[in-house]
Amino acid sequence: MALPFEPSIEGLGGSYWDVVEAAVFPRTQLRFRNDALLRQLGVEPDGVSDQDVEMAYGRFEERVPLLALRYHGYQFGTYNPQLGDGRGFLYGQLRDRTGRLQDLGSKGSGTTPWSRGGDGRLTLKGGVREVIASEALHRLGVTTSRTLSLIETGDELWRGDEPSPTRSAVMVRMARTHLRFGTCERLLYLRDPEGLERLLRHVVAVYYPDIAAAHPAPDGDRLALEHQLLAFYGELVERVARLAAEWMSAGFVHGVLNTDNMSLAGESFDYGPFAFLDRWDPSFTAAYFDQTGLYSYGRQPAICRKNLQLLQNPLAMLLPRPRMEESLERYASTYQNHYRFCLVRRLGLTTNPDLESDERLVSATLELIASWPVGYGDFFAGLASAIQSAGLPQEPEGLPVFLNDGPAPAREMWQNWRNAWWWQTQAREVPGTEPDASVPEVLRRWNLSQTPTRSLIESLWEPIDQGDDWLPVGSWLASVMKA
Ligand code: AMP
Ligand code: MG
Repeated sequence: MALPFEPSIEGLGGSYWDVVEAAVFPRTQLRFRNDALLRQLGVEPDGVSDQDVEMAYGRFEERVPLLALRYHGYQFGTYNPQLGDGRGFLYGQLRDRTGRLQDLGSKGSGTTPWSRGGDGRLTLKGGVREVIASEALHRLGVTTSRTLSLIETGDELWRGDEPSPTRSAVMVRMARTHLRFGTCERLLYLRDPEGLERLLRHVVAVYYPDIAAAHPAPDGDRLALEHQLLAFYGELVERVARLAAEWMSAGFVHGVLNTDNMSLAGESFDYGPFAFLDRWDPSFTAAYFDQTGLYSYGRQPAICRKNLQLLQNPLAMLLPRPRMEESLERYASTYQNHYRFCLVRRLGLTTNPDLESDERLVSATLELIASWPVGYGDFFAGLASAIQSAGLPQEPEGLPVFLNDGPAPAREMWQNWRNAWWWQTQAREVPGTEPDASVPEVLRRWNLSQTPTRSLIESLWEPIDQGDDWLPVGSWLASVMKA
């Protein structure tokens, strides 16, 4: 599989990465390949055998150099200058069909100078979980990395959070970039403003081309550089605000929002102890080692904002802080607008004629699901399935309580929500505008019939663990990946 890789980060020079070698595994056995992504990368999947995938993304043949990226980060509030790719590397960078540069990065591919005593490996279950998270989030409209391949590698691993020994795997993900907030933080730690300037010029040129075009910054022109980088920071603030809104609407808890897991392209990536909500609960915490609930579901928007504020520390080597603070002020309204847009879309409604009614519908929805002990994803799936089978009701009273195996919702709360929702389905018929996409179709497109909550993931993992049966996870993935 000869892909047209481009030396992009490599061209920045060796102070940002270390050349590493991939581990040699006892065996390689393909467990997941993402043909839709191969197509996105301009590769016809029919011409690629499973063995080709194993050779390329399990044995990493013919691909040099493999680069472990250097970075630091705030982990649970404490600065850690000993990070960096400890079990992965940048395998290559290439253009997708739309011309955008994409990273292929590995996870579980062996130790590096940054492994800090770790084994450099990924458990098979951890890999299956990342496949599930990335594909579900992508389907739900979250700006996320995707998984290209998962290959079982035949090692036995010991982990505190899985029955051990446990099976091992190596994964390759496609992400916009593996450059993180922590990549900048490291350059502040090293007091290297020139290194930061070089890095950020690169980031803007590759991942913010509109800003590079609107704010050209010739070498040596400090003021022009300042304008460009301020515009970049402002755009990053907006991308991260929208990402947080997308997670919240998806009912997703990332789990480890350390600054080394925050992408400079504003994309969601690196799925470890994540969880999809069962019941809607702001205090729900995903990582067992997050004892104070720092990264709980409800704190994610504030934590992302905090991380953007922390990023001002390295950026202040090149930019005036008050101007960055001004940009950060846009975070709240960007978040709120996008959250409303995403949530209303999950309710089957796309166009946006009346923001205030949408806002009221969002409040009514949150009141209902906070008081009604049903699954967060089940609520949307239930609505989608009721409307798909019976069509839009003629009047609000025509919508039945669509989840009837559990407790009933409080009457007043239910009626309040149902009326607000029904009127919004009617109000979308705005004269003189494009006809609204049909509510049943929007509901189908933006919801999952089965949300990968912990219990669902366990039920998909158990057959693999007990009998090497990959059918359940395969059919769940097929249902999600069918757009
Ligand atoms: P994470 O919390 O997964 O983002 O990882 C934080 C840091 O720990 C990163 O530098 C990882 O590369 C590193 N790391 C995590 N697991 C391992 C492992 N098994 N071996 C080596 N490094 C690891
Ligand atoms: Mg990470």
